[in-house]
Amino acid sequence: MARIIDTAPGCDMPALRRTPSALEVRGLSYSDEVKAETDHLYEEVKDFITPMEWPGIAPLVHGINKLKEERNAVILAHNYMTPDIFNLVGDFRGDSLQLAREAANVDAEVIVQAGVHFMAETSKILAPEKTVLIPDMEAGCSLAESITGADIRLIKQKYPGIPVVTYVNTTADVKAETDVCCTSSNAVQVVEHVAAEWGVDKVILIPDKYLARNVAAVTDVEIITWDGRCEVHEQFTADDIHGLREAHPGVLILAHPECPPDVLEAADFAGSTSALSNYVSERSPNKVVLLTECSMSDNVASANPEVEFVKPCNLCPHMKRITLENIFDALKDMKHEVLIDEDVRLEAKKAIDAMLALPNPKTARPFETGLAPKDIETLSPAA
Ligand code: SF4
Repeated sequence: MARIIDTAPGCDMPALRRTPSALEVRGLSYSDEVKAETDHLYEEVKDFITPMEWPGIAPLVHGINKLKEERNAVILAHNYMTPDIFNLVGDFRGDSLQLAREAANVDAEVIVQAGVHFMAETSKILAPEKTVLIPDMEAGCSLAESITGADIRLIKQKYPGIPVVTYVNTTADVKAETDVCCTSSNAVQVVEHVAAEWGVDKVILIPDKYLARNVAAVTDVEIITWDGRCEVHEQFTADDIHGLREAHPGVLILAHPECPPDVLEAADFAGSTSALSNYVSERSPNKVVLLTECSMSDNVASANPEVEFVKPCNLCPHMKRITLENIFDALKDMKHEVLIDEDVRLEAKKAIDAMLALPNPKTARPFETGLAPKDIETLSPAA
């Protein structure tokens, strides 16, 4: 059984609250057949879903898994999905880089992106022959919305000859103007690789200013960035860490590199969502806090029941737009298809391919904690 000390109990539960009508309008019910075919799944989510809630969830899970077979579809589930989606209907699970690789290789006609819109675009860029669906077209991202392709064109005019590295949390238009993409798994590796390849000592790394400053802290490459932020990770503070250490002596604090630099300075370990998950699985700490999106702690906790999790809760409102209900609807009605102009797709693909051609991110240089933040040039739309 996962051990979770929830410092904000119930904050990620709205996606799990269901009414009987949610089943009725979809022609679903908790029949004997559904019960028999889903009982074994309950074990995987019993720490997050009560026995009372299960009859409202099992028919949706059963219906989605049947529709996947009928449509020859797979579901790519990001680490920030709620445990019901992540554990019970996700065929591939992970961070955005892992999901991008799966999208390129998966043998299916339909991909349902259980994540946000830029992730679905990335899947479509890499798998144009497949139908890519997103359950809610409004599932956006504060980072992706902070910058446009026109902004990148202006930046390139201002800094000719300087490579542009773009975080994957961007639209296809932005990727199309980019030299190479990166994720939080491989940002340091990509920056150092591209600087060496171009023979320059300066790289533009956009749009997350905190990720860029955290990369700048561990590399000699000069970084110029953009004034974009993840609305989830920017909320964590160094004071939060001091408070957690006082309230939970001995707790290990792991932080995502989209957090502000003073948070990484005070944390014990920093890395991408997959690096945080691997750290917990490989080292089995007694007690841990993950400073990242709320549902990620639940998903890592269910895979590591021997570890005690202290769980502050910052929700991504965009990720939480994805529910079992709208996944079912997307598969049933084959909606909402993500389409990209072919010229834009081909240009964006070059930047993603350049990233995917790099060696496995496990060999990349990690982020470090305990380093003093560095000031770097930060551009904004007015620049
Ligand atoms: S967690 Fe942050 S970066 Fe990820 S989708 Fe939400 S707003 Fe965007």
